[in-house]
Amino acid sequence: MSDCMIQLINLKKVFKEQKTVNEQAAVNDVSIKIKKGEFITLLGPSGCGKTTTLRMIAGFEEPSSGSILIDGQDVSYKQPHERDVNTVFQSYALFPHMNVYSNVAFGLKIKKVPNEEIKKKVSEVLKLVQLEGYDLRYPNQLSGGQKQRVAIARAVVNSPKVLLLDEPLGALDLKLRKQMQFELKHLQQKLGITFIYVTHDQEEALTMSDRIAVMNNGKIEQVGTPDEIYEKPHTKFVADFIGESNMFEAKVKNYQGDLINLVIEDGQDISIKADAEKKDLCSGENILITIRPERMKFSKTPEKGKNSVCCTIKERVYIGSIQKTIAQLKNGKEITVSEPAGYVFDYNNNKDAFVSWEYEHGVVIKG
Ligand code: ATP
Repeated sequence: MSDCMIQLINLKKVFKEQKTVNEQAAVNDVSIKIKKGEFITLLGPSGCGKTTTLRMIAGFEEPSSGSILIDGQDVSYKQPHERDVNTVFQSYALFPHMNVYSNVAFGLKIKKVPNEEIKKKVSEVLKLVQLEGYDLRYPNQLSGGQKQRVAIARAVVNSPKVLLLDEPLGALDLKLRKQMQFELKHLQQKLGITFIYVTHDQEEALTMSDRIAVMNNGKIEQVGTPDEIYEKPHTKFVADFIGESNMFEAKVKNYQGDLINLVIEDGQDISIKADAEKKDLCSGENILITIRPERMKFSKTPEKGKNSVCCTIKERVYIGSIQKTIAQLKNGKEITVSEPAGYVFDYNNNKDAFVSWEYEHGVVIKG
């Protein structure tokens, strides 16, 4: 049996309104395989096509072309109720005139599940989302976090194969949002249901997901584990969108043992590790190199066995657990270095310094 739960094949959606203003497709040739029991997040900026992709999987929107397979079955043109999928929205979409019990029981009643079984299932699922004893409350007597838990309970009570979540924590304050991120992740692990989660919040995606699909302009730019997406971004867009990056234009000089020597835009020499994915670089080729700010360190003299380029320190910004320092290369290009509080470089008013990083922390960007 295949371990694939959802497969999107060359999925495309062009809305009528987009054709008239000659706008590009909302979803443009998206293909991905999502495993059973996987927590996958569609991450990207506003308007990149996340919600439209989710709505096509749910059956609320018809694809213009391409197909959607759920557990091996082509459901591309099936009605939402014919798909073993439930959706949780940011707006909760609870029935205001029904209490918590009836909200959660609603789908089971429609399916004519016997009353005793409904009672058992609703009580189990309310326990799971930590809402035991709230059965008789109405939505307007609940906090935002509690309403969202009811919406989740209602969506998982009939054990769908797939749960689609569209910015479900978007309306909550930061602290509750963080708490709910962990609760949702634990719930997903307990239930073993495939979760497809939509957010534009990169930290949320990194915290919760088994894999992330980063979307831009209707296309998937990169799919990978949070670690792969953060440490090895494939494109400039991914490097820019997830966390902060220092990006240099560089020209390939030559290969030397397990290193590739480069000259960066201000004329200084650096090297990168010649690991497998970088072996196709040629002498004279222009590339982009990205380095995360927390991989860089300042020193008074150049560091041996690492990249060390001279710079001038411009500005420091204190942001709690880390301190950010802005420095400039010889050509005026600004770089950002993040240092943990307590380990901040003391430049003693001498603003000329060196910024260093390990060869392996320079990542080659292709697009
Ligand atoms: P957000 O994070 O803001 O919700 P998103 O990534 O979910 O954005 P979509 O809602 O999928 O993006 O929208 C993708 C594109 O499709 C946008 O350009 C949007 O204007 C367009 N679009 C979405 N729904 C419709 C519609 N019903 N009619 C016409 N255009 C639409």
